[in-house]
Amino acid sequence: MDRTLIRANLNENPFNPIREFEREIIKTFKEIEINRYPDPEYKELRKALADRLNVDIDNIAIGNGSDELILYILLAFHRKGFPLVITHPTFGMYEKAGKLLGMKILKFNLKEDWGLPKKDIEEAVKNGAVIFLGYPNNPTANCWPEKDIIDVIDKNPGITIIDEAYYEFSGKTLLNLVRERQNVIILRTFSKALSLAGARVGYAISHKNNIDVLNEVRLPFNISLFSEKLALFMLNQTSWIKEKVKEVIENRDWLFAKLSTLTFLKPYPSETNFILCKVLYENLDVIAFLKEKDIEIRKPDMEGNYIRISIGKREEVEKIWLSLKELQEKLK
Ligand code: PMP
Repeated sequence: MDRTLIRANLNENPFNPIREFEREIIKTFKEIEINRYPDPEYKELRKALADRLNVDIDNIAIGNGSDELILYILLAFHRKGFPLVITHPTFGMYEKAGKLLGMKILKFNLKEDWGLPKKDIEEAVKNGAVIFLGYPNNPTANCWPEKDIIDVIDKNPGITIIDEAYYEFSGKTLLNLVRERQNVIILRTFSKALSLAGARVGYAISHKNNIDVLNEVRLPFNISLFSEKLALFMLNQTSWIKEKVKEVIENRDWLFAKLSTLTFLKPYPSETNFILCKVLYENLDVIAFLKEKDIEIRKPDMEGNYIRISIGKREEVEKIWLSLKELQEKLK
């Protein structure tokens, strides 16, 4: 690639651990017996995760990204006749998987400040549902108050999934609920803070009964040996990950402050590695303008002129800022 493209559209991590830990990772790979199947139970990875999370190995299921676990959860629970309940906007995979399975899908618009329409959801789930809640939610980048989520969980005789894909950026988790309740699944991923989007590893944490049900629908060798070893390796790089998360958060807050000075954009506060903005002129195509400058951002799946910017390295957010400042000048 001769042009440097800034990929600010998929909420990836800008830092590639293979660049940083090349020798160690090659050494790990050399030890892999690639002529053999992986352990179909992924015990080593589940044990490593269980130890870190202070749960039992039976409380963890591994997926080919959390995307696959979303599909597995719906495969496992739609048979009970539950509808799928989601917010709007939210991460698109929940609806996509629900549609694939022919589920009834109930969508609840978030309030103007992206608050949870708690009462409406509670009313709709009285007879049981599979509810997916982003914590924080993508693309709105906010975490709803813990109490609102617990109230919804307790009103739902079905199952509630708390998607914590961006947990390392928000620092907030509802993991404790798994210890107290049987009707909650927490989803996490190695794709964001742990820099392994290309390896495709996600995990679910829940009561043993739910994990057993997920394992019934899970394909036996659903992640590769390479991915399992990379995930195990990254789990031990705690200080590198902490440092990179801190850097991304600093870059996010730097860009947020800059964006707040523009008159054509309204950025929303973020507890993730991306910023959602409302474009205040209906027909202004910020996405096309940035594309011309080799910057890819995302049009989130929601009505109105919104953009979502993933946070990268300092030089990347600086380039995004300079381009948007140029657009501001043009609008004068
Ligand atoms: N959940 C949320 C909220 C996401 O934003 C994403 C990816 N953008 C995922 C899950 C899927 O992540 P992965 O399949 O890479 O683990």
